[in-house]
Amino acid sequence: MKNYIKHDPWKIIEEGFKPEYNRISESLCSLGNGHMGQRANFEESYSGDTLPGSYMAGVYYPDKTIVGWWKNGYPEYFAKVLNAPDWIGLKLTLGGQEIDLAHADVEEFYREIDMQTGILYRKARLRTAPDTLIEIESSRFVSMARPEVGTYRYTLRLVEGEGDLKISSFIEGNVHNEDANYDEYFWEHQGEELDSDSAAIVLKTKKTGFTLASRISTKVFHFKTAGSAESVPQKEALKSPGRVSQEFDLVLRQGEGVHIEKYNSSLTDRDHKTGDLLSRGKAILSDAAAAGFDTLKEEQVDAWRHIWDQSDITIEGDVAAQQGIRFNIFQLKQTYTGKDERLNIGPKGFTGEKYGGASYWDTEAYCLPFFLNTDDSSIARQLLVYRHNHLERAIENAGKLGFTDGAALYPMVTMNGEECHNEWEITFEEIHRNGAIAYGIYDYINCTGDKDYLLPKGMEVLTGIARFWSQRVNWSEAKKKYVMLGVTGPNEYENNVHNNWYTNYIAAWCLRYTAECASDLAASKPEEYKELASSLGLDEDELKRFESIAAQMYLPEDREKGVFLQQDGYLDKEIKPVDTLKEEDRPLNQNWSWDRILRSCYIKQADVLQGFFFFEDDFDNETLKRNFDFYEPLTVHESSLSPCVHTILAETLGYEEKAYEMYLRTARLDLDDYNNDTEDGCHITSMAGTWMSVVMGFGGLRHRKGELYLNPSLPAKWKGYSFKLMHRGVQMKVSVTKEGITLENQGGKEVSINLGTKDRFETLQLSPGESLVK
Ligand code: BGC
Repeated sequence: MKNYIKHDPWKIIEEGFKPEYNRISESLCSLGNGHMGQRANFEESYSGDTLPGSYMAGVYYPDKTIVGWWKNGYPEYFAKVLNAPDWIGLKLTLGGQEIDLAHADVEEFYREIDMQTGILYRKARLRTAPDTLIEIESSRFVSMARPEVGTYRYTLRLVEGEGDLKISSFIEGNVHNEDANYDEYFWEHQGEELDSDSAAIVLKTKKTGFTLASRISTKVFHFKTAGSAESVPQKEALKSPGRVSQEFDLVLRQGEGVHIEKYNSSLTDRDHKTGDLLSRGKAILSDAAAAGFDTLKEEQVDAWRHIWDQSDITIEGDVAAQQGIRFNIFQLKQTYTGKDERLNIGPKGFTGEKYGGASYWDTEAYCLPFFLNTDDSSIARQLLVYRHNHLERAIENAGKLGFTDGAALYPMVTMNGEECHNEWEITFEEIHRNGAIAYGIYDYINCTGDKDYLLPKGMEVLTGIARFWSQRVNWSEAKKKYVMLGVTGPNEYENNVHNNWYTNYIAAWCLRYTAECASDLAASKPEEYKELASSLGLDEDELKRFESIAAQMYLPEDREKGVFLQQDGYLDKEIKPVDTLKEEDRPLNQNWSWDRILRSCYIKQADVLQGFFFFEDDFDNETLKRNFDFYEPLTVHESSLSPCVHTILAETLGYEEKAYEMYLRTARLDLDDYNNDTEDGCHITSMAGTWMSVVMGFGGLRHRKGELYLNPSLPAKWKGYSFKLMHRGVQMKVSVTKEGITLENQGGKEVSINLGTKDRFETLQLSPGESLVK
């Protein structure tokens, strides 16, 4: 765990130069706008430890997998998010010496990302030679208002000394992924273009054939005194395969300096015709450069103001917690904007290469509630449409494993609908992901009331998933029940188990929910439903079979202990709580053999409890409590997705200290580098879990039969907190202090809120602009 990030409510601040933490800071201060993003690498050359990272959403490479023992059904490749051309590059040579923080005496250093505006700021004072002292300052962002544009303003001031300054502002297209399986370069050069005020490169990805055009325009201003600056003409522009630069020369005397403004446009043929990329990029860039840095900055500030108006959470009395929650919201909003239905939320977003792929079950199980409650419903809908677009591939994927007749198995990890994860225990067995995707449809309809999504998209996906479950179970003569053998539940520290309670439960729920939706549609929209059912070949017999399997699904439990069993045989294990483990054994996945982990009783992440999170209302509090008390002490939370579920359940059960303990594990996971891996990038999907911990945990938000419920409580360590909610187009603010709860309707329609627990609540109507104190 690290503790070098300064606590601040709106900023992530690194003070003092800490080269050993550079990769961590690069991850934490990453920039993104849904279309592209980059790590907080330095603009000028840096020969110290760094992970250069610039990424374009949806641009990937199918890196051939490395597998020990090939198994039929494995995918051929693992999709990698590609490191894209680096447009920020600046080579600065002063008096013949290249400016590089790794070769200078760094007297002062400050880096921050301002989460309120999405602007990365850096300032340093360095002695580059005994008689040369300089100050550099930069402000950079990728524009939320113009997704294909990035820009920065960089100032260099010569405090002591004088000399020639050579500026080379470049795009470097010869970049590669640190995690490339065979050290390959994934881009091919297509050409370069230079003109009087811009320079561009065109690259194409190998195999996937995405074409990208990146163009820069650099303006340099020489200032001698504060307030007056002269434009420095470009000396020349240079090109070599995959690289272009704009060159400037000038002489700097003591006290003088330069402002460098750099604009970039980065476009791909995912959004434009390949042949238009250069000209479109030029037009977009010249518009941006004509608007100028200050105007682009104003647009950026406005765009983020709007985002925070919809989604901010404030915490009073705990700056570390405040910074943690805002950091999570900030990164999620940088990663996914819902503007493009072909995109999803990768576990590392634009902050690193690891994990590849763009979507996991994390999207539906964790991220969807965040987007559903903090933005217009069209944003969350895009996440559903993404899965619908991949339905054919999910059917093919199930086909490869031997399933038939339209059964769909969604991939565990995917970029384009094809499975790209190849460990058998996950690819073939961690099939509970299918359940989360169906649950996402339920969640969306429950929150938004948009039942139209079912016809046809939602119903098509549900049918494919239900067909999969109906074929994946088998009848056990011994148990006189349907069973599901050879699976991996959410707890990946158990593989190839029989009857994982969570998987069986969610499978039965999917089967029932599909039949229920079919019967609702048959009654409410008979003509459209008939047409859809006939195109799917879905008849009454099949729906009855779904219901019958669901009714007869085997759900393992131990009656004596009154708990559901994570899987058959779980109690045969030696059950010893986590607090009996030696400190040096934690985390288990870094200290124990896999074999020892598999045989142990320790649970990586919520499993039975994950089921309670989804289906809380199916169980009484006594049942939830008995199971929580049994499983929580056995859980090591070695997945970042685990603590948030525990916070929410602990709150429901009135375990306030436990809830807060679990919350702390999720809120500052990356900021304090809990897992020692933030240098690879941030844990973007688990950040949605942090939001859930506050709003669903402490705030008690639930949607029941389309209605909104809140049951706020105040963690003892906080003076108060507030959160924004978007419910069916109405913006609301909920504030909680020791004195009481304030509900504000900030929208334009009346809204109804049920305040209290699921059994005892008061229904309140709030008209537009109305505030209620309780
Ligand atoms: C978790 C999975 C999760 C994946 C990506 C793994 O460590 O066990 O549940 O989908 O990370 O976040």
